[in-house]
Amino acid sequence: MKSATILGAGLVGSLLAIHLAKRGYKVEVHERRPDMRKENIPAGRSINLAMSDRGWRGLEKVGLREDIESIAIPMKGRMIHALDGTTSFQPYGKEGQAIYAVSRGVLNCALMNLAEQQDDVQLFFNERCVHVDLQKHMLHFENPRSDSYSEKSYDLLFGADGAFSALRHSMQFMDRYNYSQQYIEHGYKELMIPSDANGRHKMEVNALHIWPRGNFMLIALPNIDGTFTCTLFFPFEGDVSFQKLKTEGDVRKFFTEYFPDVIPLMPGYITDFFQNPTSSLLTVRCFPWQANGNTCLIGDAAHAIVPFFGQGMNCGFEDCSVLSELMDEHGDDWKTILPLFEALRKPNADAIADLALNNFIEMRDLVADPHFLHKKKIEKMIAEKYPEKYISPYQMVSFSHIPYSDALKNGAAINNVLDQLTRVEQLESKFESAEIQKMILPILFG
Ligand SMILES: Cc1cc2nc3c(=O)[nH]c(=O)nc-3n(C[C@H](O)[C@H](O)[C@H](O)COP(=O)(O)OP(=O)(O)OC[C@H]3O[C@@H](n4cnc5c(N)ncnc54)[C@H](O)[C@@H]3O)c2cc1C
Repeated sequence: MKSATILGAGLVGSLLAIHLAKRGYKVEVHERRPDMRKENIPAGRSINLAMSDRGWRGLEKVGLREDIESIAIPMKGRMIHALDGTTSFQPYGKEGQAIYAVSRGVLNCALMNLAEQQDDVQLFFNERCVHVDLQKHMLHFENPRSDSYSEKSYDLLFGADGAFSALRHSMQFMDRYNYSQQYIEHGYKELMIPSDANGRHKMEVNALHIWPRGNFMLIALPNIDGTFTCTLFFPFEGDVSFQKLKTEGDVRKFFTEYFPDVIPLMPGYITDFFQNPTSSLLTVRCFPWQANGNTCLIGDAAHAIVPFFGQGMNCGFEDCSVLSELMDEHGDDWKTILPLFEALRKPNADAIADLALNNFIEMRDLVADPHFLHKKKIEKMIAEKYPEKYISPYQMVSFSHIPYSDALKNGAAINNVLDQLTRVEQLESKFESAEIQKMILPILFG
């Protein structure tokens, strides 16, 4: 029987297990952590996630879309909270387009359940891979619960073991292996806005809330239980930074100065601030992703990115869709599939890594910047004139399957034209002129 081994039962590893099992593979998944369905352990690095079209497509292919959709909350745009407490809404796309807030834990458990329902999928927990021998096709595991050590051979191996992948670590000893990891100077901390006395959301539910404050920001995504999970993205060091918030008084003063409207919504913010961890954010780039035509990285293990475009999981799910399409074409010929997979995905992973870094600046700063808002107004005029032909960079990433590398390239072209248009005096009266329309023509990608 065809067999495959996957390291990591996170979002991508669990989805991949389903794909492989549906094609007749006997699949073993080895997960470092205990089974989160049986023990009360946090699912990982964020409580909820934004799911967009690429993620939905991944779930659709394994028949999970409807189940997850029923517990997902549409977020139709950004709700910007100014320092004076006023709010403004910026839609993400056209009428009917939205990204969706989904619980990471619920999604991961649903994927693991579905994986286990397939014939011949076995999940092993508390199995931390510590080394992969790429020559002998051997895996080495530590089990912290039983304090034991084991070895296993593999035929086909996927490393879906996240940003600090053990498989990638072993691959780094290969000749001419390229690897970089880049931490940003900001970390993040999760805080919570509880529901109101009736169990309802205290703010607009169908929006991703942002409090942009220049070099840092607070965001909030809704949960189905009436709460919001807030994330403070904030420098580790500097004048206004985590390093400077040492006492309850420091935190209270900071929130009073920068987020006064949040305080009444979030009575437990000081306790949360000191209890919840401060975590770091990094971009990982590496190449190759595969070795020997039988070993391959996927998801964050191949391309961890910062979370500001809400695309890390979406990109990992798209990896699974692309792999599945390659299997449609090439069956079980992994020596053909894996080099094609890395060639197709690497430029797109690099592009979304760049887009995600750029989007941090847009979210924390530009959404409140007059020049940016001027550009948004011009963009709206173009979108209204060409509803079928104009696709904004955000729409390309979140509401289409246009390769990320094209979205990056097209986005730069759009930005350039919008910048030029901001310099045209009385643009509104000249908008229909041949001269302006000629400028717009190259950015109609639809
Ligand atoms: C704050 C934050 C917010 C985010 N928001 C979004 C969002 O809104 N939308 C979005 O699309 N993405 C988002 N992401 C990114 C998303 O979380 C990741 O891209 C996604 O979790 C990647 O899935 P994965 O399965 O590849 O890796 P992971 O989710 O990291 O799963 C890896 C699994 O492998 C296991 N593992 C690790 N090492 C080993 C080992 N040695 N042996 C065995 N098992 C091992 C881990 O325990 C884990 O279960 C966010 C990330 C962060 C940090």
